[in-house]
Amino acid sequence: MRVHHLLLLPAILRSAVLAYTPLSESTIQGLPSPGKDFDIKDGALLSPILIPRVPGTPGSEQVLQHFVDFFSDTLPDWKLSFQNSSSTTPVSNGKEVPFRNLIATRDPPWVEREGEVGRLVLVAHYDSKLTPKDFIGATDSAAPCAMLMHAARSIDNALTQKWDDMAGDALDELEDQKGIQIILLDGEEAFSSWTDTDSIYGARALAEEWENTYHPPLSTFSTPLASMDLFVLLDLLGSPPQRVPSYYKTSHWAYLNMADLESRLRKMGSFKSSPNHKSKRFSNEPRKKEPMFLYEADKKDTDRWTGGYIGDDHVPFIARGVEVLHIIPSPFPDVWHHPDDDGEHLDPDIVEDWALLTVTFAAEWMDLEGYLDDGKKDRRSAEVLKDELNGEMT
Ligand SMILES: [Zn+2]
Repeated sequence: MRVHHLLLLPAILRSAVLAYTPLSESTIQGLPSPGKDFDIKDGALLSPILIPRVPGTPGSEQVLQHFVDFFSDTLPDWKLSFQNSSSTTPVSNGKEVPFRNLIATRDPPWVEREGEVGRLVLVAHYDSKLTPKDFIGATDSAAPCAMLMHAARSIDNALTQKWDDMAGDALDELEDQKGIQIILLDGEEAFSSWTDTDSIYGARALAEEWENTYHPPLSTFSTPLASMDLFVLLDLLGSPPQRVPSYYKTSHWAYLNMADLESRLRKMGSFKSSPNHKSKRFSNEPRKKEPMFLYEADKKDTDRWTGGYIGDDHVPFIARGVEVLHIIPSPFPDVWHHPDDDGEHLDPDIVEDWALLTVTFAAEWMDLEGYLDDGKKDRRSAEVLKDELNGEMT
């Protein structure tokens, strides 16, 4: 099946999209769950983001520092950079408000020059809306930010091992290797009401700057935008309803990859929010119809494609030719832009399911099957050996 699909795709997509081995069931089951790190009160990843974080305020500063500390302390191989801009807003009385995007990038170690590596780019916005007062924006987009942090750390060791293993490989195999980038954007929300100029401040500034940032002449990719193989934007995830259509025909191939992965995870019983999960259904009860987050895998060319109707951080990127997979539910969650969009109204199972889907999507894209056991197998056999030796000695 894989081969047939492979041949139907243009060459550039074939190499970018399908040159991976699907994750095995045992690999997926062995992935560490975020567990307590997604706790809304004291979880290490999520809880520090669940504060008001309007651009230019101390809350924004604090959350940005949380991301920086996380990457510097636990993922030192990710290169951090900032892209800063400033703008007046309809409520700033002529004062410039600062917007700071954080970019975390991990490329294969042999890549020496910018412009020689394509990347999977995972994106969410970290700012919160000015109104209603003390708005938290747990789905919008604190939880998606935590999911991306969890994804980065879940594949980090596997990337190291895989790239270490490849060190002696032929040049063309090395050249096929992709990098990964996580972008946490500032200033998505409108300060007054959504217009082209009062919204997505950070995304607009970044897309514009990167469009004009040229890699050295003769680079494979001319700009950091051209280096984006796929821009995956997560938004409004973590509270029902969570039905995500396929918005763009051009990126439907990527939607299908993620939808296929979701249905495999659901069949395995890995999705905690499923009515068929072992925590929710007695084994003697009949299976309920399995709901899908990505429910449009069978969408046809003649169906209604609504890409372009939802304004969000992807807009300035798609306008510059970047391939975008927009993971945002339609309709939006019930708590959308309501004071109830806080930690207490997140559904922890839904948050964890999206995190698992994000981790596995990134892991398959980076072709990490065989590397994700984190050396556990070796360690396990080493421990068994040690126990045996101890047994002999005592
Ligand atoms: Zn919002």
